[in-house]
Formats: sequence, structure tokens, C-alpha cells
Amino acid sequence: MPLTCDVLIIGGGIAGLSLASALAGRATVIVAEAEAALASHTSSRSARQLIPSYGPPAIRELTVRTLALLRRTEQETGRRFLTPRSFLLIGDEAQVRGQASSHMAFISHAEAIKLSPELRPGSFEAAGLDTTSFGCDTDLLIEHHRTTAEAAGARILTNAPVTAAVRGADDGGAGGDGGWEVQAGARSIVADTVVNAAGAWADNVAAFFGAAPQGLVPYRRTAAVVKVARPLLPEQPMVATADNTFYYRPEGDQVLISPSETEPSRAEDARPRETDIQALVENINSATTMGIEAVDRAWTGLRTEPADGHPVVGFDGQTAGFFWLAGQGGYGFQTSAGIAELAAGLILDGTADGTGVSGETIAALSPRRRTL
Ligand SMILES: Cc1cc2nc3c(=O)[nH]c(=O)nc-3n(C[C@H](O)[C@H](O)[C@H](O)COP(=O)(O)OP(=O)(O)OC[C@H]3O[C@@H](n4cnc5c(N)ncnc54)[C@H](O)[C@@H]3O)c2cc1C
Repeated sequence: MPLTCDVLIIGGGIAGLSLASALAGRATVIVAEAEAALASHTSSRSARQLIPSYGPPAIRELTVRTLALLRRTEQETGRRFLTPRSFLLIGDEAQVRGQASSHMAFISHAEAIKLSPELRPGSFEAAGLDTTSFGCDTDLLIEHHRTTAEAAGARILTNAPVTAAVRGADDGGAGGDGGWEVQAGARSIVADTVVNAAGAWADNVAAFFGAAPQGLVPYRRTAAVVKVARPLLPEQPMVATADNTFYYRPEGDQVLISPSETEPSRAEDARPRETDIQALVENINSATTMGIEAVDRAWTGLRTEPADGHPVVGFDGQTAGFFWLAGQGGYGFQTSAGIAELAAGLILDGTADGTGVSGETIAALSPRRRTL
């Protein structure tokens, strides 16, 4: 017997689980995750920072909305996801001005050095500071979404890779009322609406449903946690270069570092390269005095986005009952609650009225935006 639900979500990363939790109690939900564990791809490999000044306007709006929603959830549940951590952008004057937004204030060179005394004075010219930025306990957030969804009756299946789908006729047959019958591992699932939250694999998953690809490209992004001779203070900001050569932030008594690379990849379980890490260590050791001594651990994840850099959120223009929740790039956590709220509104009510998301942003994220 197939399982049945209103909404089948493909992918158990932050995107799929945020939506499952936003739909809790409002629809019957099944999440199908290919791997044995939830959030084992990009969602377990992030830098865990939510930065309102980072990204194009639609992203910034969704980040502010996400922070408001997460704060509300913190108050309701007593769980603490967010810890204030400022974001310091450094570079030459033009680069920093080019990326500044209303959430970022220009500060003097001396102020930047006071905040991040490990920076060598000659390594940058100008600085911008976003004091509205937060670190995020992403493991706790994912666990919160899983438990919220399950408490409301959602079924979360692991080892359930979606490999095929057929559209039922409007005659109450397979897929009933024109819904989808989907093969997910050993299970057959009948759903009115299917949500594609498959991260780097989202265009591949769309093909099972006969939906045209969105031109989503996975880009490698590596990070490492390193031991340093002179640890940063826990309250120090995250520091990023405006020309995307590196970023770092305190991680306990160690430091999280990244080369900020954006290198196209196929959809895969990406792995770090020794040479990239070595070059990064040399780069940060020459720009700062923290003195990286050893690499504790390193990882690579895939940040997946379409050519215009906006996520793809909404019903497909051609394929009925097929909803996109993909292309979050480097913003998947900082936009997660805002995007889940938007997606839940579009799926359940056919409108985003009543959500905190603007019409401009809804249009910017629409899968049909190229033809709108
Ligand atoms: C180094 C790095 C640093 C980052 N830092 C930040 C940060 O500070 N702040 C921020 O907001 N974002 C950050 N990001 C981006 C963020 O991590 C991503 O945007 C987010 O995790 C994407 O979530 P997702 O659920 O879309 O994808 P994923 O977590 O990859 O989830 C997709 C899931 O779909 C599953 N799947 C695929 N195909 C199928 C199938 N056929 N059937 C069933 N399941 C399937 C996969 O197994 C996977 O679990 C960073 C990313 C990286 C790599």
C-alpha cells in the first residue's frame, strides 16, 4: 500500500525540514531523504552565520524576516538558536562600499583593528561592520524542525531516495485526483503536491517529474577549523574580505576559516582538497597574526544557485503539483524561516498574503521569473 500525504518534501536538509515544520498541523506531510541521516549534505557544512547585510535585496529581506521568526520561536520554545556575532567586511574602499547595505556601517581602520586586533594593518584599507548579524546553532535548529514536524504527525523517511514519479489521472487512480505517485527507496508515496528541496540534486530530481531544469549550479565551498597560537576572543566578529579571498570567525578556542571559493561542481558528496587548505592557511597567516598551527578538521559543501543568484521558490510553471524550494546558495540558513513561511503560504493558500514577504521578493524567487 502506498503512503499518502498532502505534501511530499524531497530532501531532508534545512530547506525541506524548515518547510515540514512550517506546515505542521496544517497539512499531512512526508519528508523523503535519500541518505541514512538528515542534513548530511550542505546543511551540516555551513559557517552557521546569519548576516542581514549579505546578499542581494531579496536575500536581505528574507534574512531579516528569518531572524524575526527565529526570535519568536526562541521565545515560544525556550530554545536558543541565535547568538549575537558581528560581521566585519574588509577590503579596499571601493569593494567595501560596493557591498555595503543599510545594515552595515562604515568604521575607521583603527576601529576595525580594535575589534579584530589580529588583522595586520596593511592587509586592508576600509571596513564595514554589521552589528545585526548572528551566529546560529544549526544542529539545534534542524532538530527543532524535525521534532516540530514529527510532533504534528509528519513522517520523516531516511534511506528514501526519490528515483521515479508518475502523474495520476484526475480519475481517482494512481496518484489520485491528479496527484503524484512517487518511488522513494522501497516506498511508494501518493501526494497532492511534491516539493523539490533536493539541494545540489534539485535539477536532477525535477527530471523525474518531467519538469524543466532551473539551471541550478552547485559551487564548492570549503571550510576548516584550525588551532591557532593566539586564539580570538569568543565575542570577536566574523571577518570576511570583500574580494572573497577568505573569511574566519572564532570557534571555541579554535578558528573557523574558509577560502570563500566558488568553483562549479557536479552534484556529489564534495570533499576538501589539501592544496586548497594549505593555500588558505598561508593566506590567513600573512593577513593576520593569529598564527594557524594545525588543521583540526576540514570539509566542503555545495552552495547551489541559478545564474541570477536568487533561490527558486514556487510552483513550477509547466508541471502541475510540483513546487521548487531550491537554489539557496550561501544563504540557506539565513533565509530558511522566511522562505519556509513563503512556501507554506503558496502551497496551502495559493498566495503569500499574510506572510512577511514582499511582492518584489516573491517575484524574484518565482520559478517562472524568466517569463513573468
Ligand atoms: C562552507 C559553507 C558555508 C556556508 N555558510 C552559510 C552560512 O553561514 N549561512 C547560511 O545561511 N548559509 C550558509 N551556507 C549555505 C547553506 O549551508 C545552504 O544554503 C543550505 O544548507 C542548503 O540547504 P538545502 O536543504 O537546500 O540543501 P541540502 O542540505 O544539501 O539538502 C538537500 C537534501 O536533499 C537530499 N536529496 C537529494 N536528492 C534526493 C533524492 N533524489 N531523494 C531524496 N533526497 C534527496 C540530499 O541527500 C540532501 O540531504 C554555507 C554553505 C557552505 C558549503
